Amino acid sequence: MKAPNSVLSSYGTTVFEVMSRLAIEHDAINLGQGFPDTDGPADIVEAAAAALIQGPNQYPPMLGLPALRQAVAAHAERFYGLEVDWQSEVMVTSGATEALADCHMALIEPGDEVVLIEPLYDCYLPIVRRAGAIAKTVRVEPPDWALPRAALEAAFSDRTKLLLLNNPMNPTAKVFTRAELDFIAGLLQRHDAYAVCDEVYEHIVFDRREHIPLMTLPGLRKRTIRIGSAGKTFSLTGWKVGYVTAAPELLAPIAKAHQFVTFTTAPNLQQAVAAGLGKPDRYFAGLSEEMQAKRDRFAAGLTEVGFDVLDCAGTYFITADFRPLGFEGNDVDFCRHITVDAGVTAVPVSAFYISGEVDHFVRFCFCKKDDLLDAAIERLAKAFR
Ligand code: PMP
Ligand code: GLN
Repeated sequence: MKAPNSVLSSYGTTVFEVMSRLAIEHDAINLGQGFPDTDGPADIVEAAAAALIQGPNQYPPMLGLPALRQAVAAHAERFYGLEVDWQSEVMVTSGATEALADCHMALIEPGDEVVLIEPLYDCYLPIVRRAGAIAKTVRVEPPDWALPRAALEAAFSDRTKLLLLNNPMNPTAKVFTRAELDFIAGLLQRHDAYAVCDEVYEHIVFDRREHIPLMTLPGLRKRTIRIGSAGKTFSLTGWKVGYVTAAPELLAPIAKAHQFVTFTTAPNLQQAVAAGLGKPDRYFAGLSEEMQAKRDRFAAGLTEVGFDVLDCAGTYFITADFRPLGFEGNDVDFCRHITVDAGVTAVPVSAFYISGEVDHFVRFCFCKKDDLLDAAIERLAKAFR
């Protein structure tokens, strides 16, 4: 038999699926894969149920329901002062993941270069490489994950087609500062490159930090594509409703990819997300506050157990160094050990690196009920006593 595509066959099953299966097998508290253990607002779920019963349940317009596209545009204006034309600049996708794939299918010619910041969310490299691009990665380093300006500058060239930026960033929980974004903006302009901005955690930022979309920086409006996800903003990760905002000249080719990939997304979910994006400011602020309280609770517990816990500025992930616990082995061994022997699952951070030499950090997902977080800490404390 002829070989399947070599890029995709070079990857195993994603770490999130692997660790979730292991958690089920060992009846462990699953703090690995990122999903809340409480569904988001009941009124949004009810709106989806009502729209399902009422119908129509036929193909919505290819770019998405007007109500949702209007809501995405209004949300951008309300939170970031971005003026967005819903008809020519907004498209609905089946999750941020589809949006990421569409952007690369639409913009990349084989041999183009894409700049990425490592550690990377797991689908980035396969998507970039499958689109035919050459990945140029630079690393942010713990504990502060500051932008390595000289390395980033060196990663750009005449062949750079785009920068793929995740802000707030999974798994580092970094929120890029205005100064860092200014520096990135300068490079993009100098090299006439695009930015694909994965901002799915835009409403999960802590300690009064502000999420600044790269798109809002002077000169970047027309070269930036902004991606959001209802999965994160409304704690409904299984819905897979994402949205892309970009200038008409950029959205048009991206829509061509979308029309041949999924074409559209379930109409009742779109209707409900439209209502969700119209929620008052306090809902969005409340999401960050709620997650911040969980971060504080869980970080204190991990510190008590003996982990060296890194700062967490946003997202619902926290990274911890397990070396102070005296464990012999790498992060993959550690995650297996705590799943099997302590009954708590995390994700090895080496899964977010191209090669495996950073192997002493684990990522915990803390968007869980307080008693579950407490139970996880209790189990870890017992295991490492
Ligand atoms: N980007 C990042 C950084 C993520 O952590 C995730 C995970 N949920 C996604 C994209 C995927 O979002 P969606 O479920 O909307 O496809
Ligand atoms: N984004 C989630 C995480 O980082 C996982 C999503 C998935 O399983 N594909 O854990």
